[in-house]
Amino acid sequence: MISMDAEIGIIGGSGFYSLLENAEEIEMRTEYGAPSDKISIGMISGRRVAFIPRHGKSHRIPPQRVPYRANIAALNEIGVKRIIATNAVGSLKPEFRPSEMVFLDQYVNMTHGRDDTFFDNDIVVHVSSAEPYCEELRGLGANMADKLGIKYHKSGTIVVINGPRFSTKAESRMFSAQGFDTIGMTQYPEVALAREKEMCYASIALVTDYDVGLEGRSDIKPVSAEEVGNIFNDNVKLVKELIRALVPSVPKERSCKCKNALDGATFSR
Ligand SMILES: [Zn+2]
Repeated sequence: MISMDAEIGIIGGSGFYSLLENAEEIEMRTEYGAPSDKISIGMISGRRVAFIPRHGKSHRIPPQRVPYRANIAALNEIGVKRIIATNAVGSLKPEFRPSEMVFLDQYVNMTHGRDDTFFDNDIVVHVSSAEPYCEELRGLGANMADKLGIKYHKSGTIVVINGPRFSTKAESRMFSAQGFDTIGMTQYPEVALAREKEMCYASIALVTDYDVGLEGRSDIKPVSAEEVGNIFNDNVKLVKELIRALVPSVPKERSCKCKNALDGATFSR
């Protein structure tokens, strides 16, 4: 029986179960309800890692119904300080090509109706979101991708839409015109909630498609769910390789600002 704590959390597709050695599953309940599924806790290169399949083991939870607060609260409860998330994203620019990875550094939230804060009663807290992703973890990820010869972008902005439908051409054109790089459905509020718990959060986003296509390129067809699944499955091995190499390179102590995110954030008079 292993003890039920971990220092690093992974949130991603169910293809990532196999990353953990000697994994055990625990069923958790938080004050925000149950996480997406049982949490697996095991080892990667001597480090204790917890894994949550964001959409559930059998991929049955749509993006707008993922229990984001329960997932983050559960990881926090078992001691996780750093989260490595994986996401499938669409590209809004020609230079962000399918099969490439992006270490996201900014998001724009276009979702609605999601529970996106732990501070919704009794206390007024305004957490800074200027740099929403952990700089330290993001840098480590990019360095490791470099070492492994993976094609990646060391920064990128994601616009997060509510889903589950994909964008119209007009919406996609608007997002491209705004200068956003990628588009997805699950980064928000996951990344924001992690910050509210003073946890580090980095996303390894995998580009799976060109959203509705590219202007003037009739050969690039609009995205389909099937295509996203295929590209993601083709590349999941590479993402796993990256995570397997990244985890042991993460310093035990944190030198980033995430751990003090709530300092000065409480509104008082
Ligand atoms: Zn951090």
